[in-house]
Amino acid sequence: MSMLTRNLDLFDPIDAAVGERSTPEEQLEVIAGFVRGCVLCGLGRNRRHAVPGEGGARAGLMIVGEGPGENEDLQGRPFVGRAGELLDKILAAAELPRPSVFITNIVKCRAADMVDGKLVNRPPQAPEVNACRPYLVRQVEIIQPLVILCLGAPAARGVIDNNFNITEQRGRWFEGPYGSRLIATFHPAFILRRGGAGAGARELKKLVWEDMKKVMEALAD
Ligand code: SF4
Repeated sequence: MSMLTRNLDLFDPIDAAVGERSTPEEQLEVIAGFVRGCVLCGLGRNRRHAVPGEGGARAGLMIVGEGPGENEDLQGRPFVGRAGELLDKILAAAELPRPSVFITNIVKCRAADMVDGKLVNRPPQAPEVNACRPYLVRQVEIIQPLVILCLGAPAARGVIDNNFNITEQRGRWFEGPYGSRLIATFHPAFILRRGGAGAGARELKKLVWEDMKKVMEALAD
């Protein structure tokens, strides 16, 4: 069983608001509205923009990353920095244009700490991921993607399994909700940290492409 489950409350204002909208696009916009006003965890205090996610409301592929960085926080859009550019290249090579995919994160606000007067990104903490997960669960419920691709260990731990080991378990299939299949690969930012063009980065890119081929096959089934 994945981490994408929730207890159904007797009355939930988000469910009630979503239920009044008929199309998946409208329902996703309701979720985005709640996210933009959310202060359920401390990350809501320092954000410039929340980043609910974007893409096709009927997308076969949902991509889930770790969380917004500085550029995403500035623009309110997911994966728009250098890692986003690399993700765009990977998606283009897989012939999966951005609008055909839904892209989001396990937390919708930037996780960063002030160090020497400067905000420095950090992985989101478990209580922040847990507070934010209901938004992701609802996005999955609305979109019902065939495949959910997690980018990086924090995303895989937030979606697939708390103890996920990205080095050992990337590229393997796991069962998700609504008949979806879950898989994880390395985060583009991790490739960039390895130098982008060096031998280490080339090896990582090869592994990511192996995983993407599995995703493409699953989407074509
Ligand atoms: S990270 Fe998620 S739970 Fe925390 S304030 Fe932002 S939207 Fe709310």
